[in-house]
Amino acid sequence: MDYISTRGSAPTLDFRGATLTGLASDGGLYVPKHWPMLTRAEIAGLAGASYVDTAVTVMRPFVAGVLSDDELRALCTTAYGRFAHEGITPLVQLDHQHWLLELFHGPTLAFKDVALQLLGQLFEHFLKDSDQHLTIVGATSGDTGSAAIDGVAGREKVDIFMLHPLGRVSDVQRRQMTTVLAPNVHNIAIEGSFDDAQAIVKALFNDRAFNGRFTLSAVNSINWARLMAQIVYYFYAAVRLGAPDRSVAFSVPTGNFGDVFAGYVAAQMGLPVERLIVATNVNDILHRAFVSGDYSQGSVTPTATPSMDIQVSSNFERLLFDLSGRDGVAMAAMMAGFESTKAMSIPEDMIGSARALFSSARIDPDGMAMAMRWASDRAGQVLDPHTAIGLAAARSSGLDVPVVTLATAHPAKFRDAVERATGIRPSLPARVGTLFDREERYDTLPGTVDAVRDYVAERAVPAA
Ligand SMILES: *Cc1c(COP(=O)(O)O)cnc(C)c1O
Repeated sequence: MDYISTRGSAPTLDFRGATLTGLASDGGLYVPKHWPMLTRAEIAGLAGASYVDTAVTVMRPFVAGVLSDDELRALCTTAYGRFAHEGITPLVQLDHQHWLLELFHGPTLAFKDVALQLLGQLFEHFLKDSDQHLTIVGATSGDTGSAAIDGVAGREKVDIFMLHPLGRVSDVQRRQMTTVLAPNVHNIAIEGSFDDAQAIVKALFNDRAFNGRFTLSAVNSINWARLMAQIVYYFYAAVRLGAPDRSVAFSVPTGNFGDVFAGYVAAQMGLPVERLIVATNVNDILHRAFVSGDYSQGSVTPTATPSMDIQVSSNFERLLFDLSGRDGVAMAAMMAGFESTKAMSIPEDMIGSARALFSSARIDPDGMAMAMRWASDRAGQVLDPHTAIGLAAARSSGLDVPVVTLATAHPAKFRDAVERATGIRPSLPARVGTLFDREERYDTLPGTVDAVRDYVAERAVPAA
């Protein structure tokens, strides 16, 4: 499979190149040159298949020419061997129509593990026989950082520098990052917001001299391999609920549009997806985009769902690229306009065709709390706040097919918010039990590009 940039002028890469690169050199994002299809028979054949077998079938076309089936299977077996549930992403029934797809059984309690455990394996595999050394630089509002650090801690040939906003991640999230003492892990608390941290990371990626001195790589969802790994659980869940004979809808708590974009890809590959519900909190740029084409950046309101407190959803560009007829030149112009004015009006013919598959809902804090109480009173399930936003959107969708809400985090990861809404304080699962006894290590830096550039340059391994 070849990978091309959404902005049309970066070099075409193979799967290895797309995995090891962050942003494309033209500022775009890498996508497969075409969407591969699974036949009805191939989808039917996934009935009863294990998660790893499903993963090999679904991801095979994306890695073709770079990884053999045996290699892919071995990497998946190791990546998913660390999950605490045999089903990896089990389905839980809530009522006659609603299901939860539990994506939080990995080491750091959020769905990010599903992709980042595999990405860690892919990095190691691709670097094994090369003299390349990767320098991963990322910013996190909490979940990506912990999952990425867990995925690469202790690996040779990789250093990870993870920026989090000082004092603005939960205690569980911070400790999941800062108690990892492997020498290749560098935690940086930035004096500033998540947006400040993300802007610093972008500036480093766009700094040609710096980017040339080190081999910079990305672990956030601009990395295609992450989205690829997330396509798998859409197939896994839908087949269990009757696909390909029955169509299923998914409700997805959305921030950067990565997780729900993976559902879009599953539909392009032939999975009968009735609808994808884009669930947002009050930071509703995506809801506005789907309702009226208004994609304009407001200021971020902090909520109980920090992983969705986002005003620019990087992966939305991948959908727009398809909606534009895969016109990289038009996309480059559109995105340049957005980057300079922080606003864009999506033409009605583009957003209109997206509405055939996508709908959206904006859930406020009351709607979130009501969904948490409904799930706990009526179905005996304690939900994390992000999942509750998804469930609230699912229950208000008016659909009459099975609706699967993606449960993106374990409730214990956000236990203060869960306790406020339900009175229940979820306890941490045994696999993270000693988190609060372990030593923490991180450095605090001012929120400036210079401070972070100097810090990384002193510690990273220059390109060979
Ligand atoms: C990252 C995250 C999301 C948002 O996912 P995107 O792929 O950015 O849309 C939702 N919930 C939780 C718990 C997350 O960690």
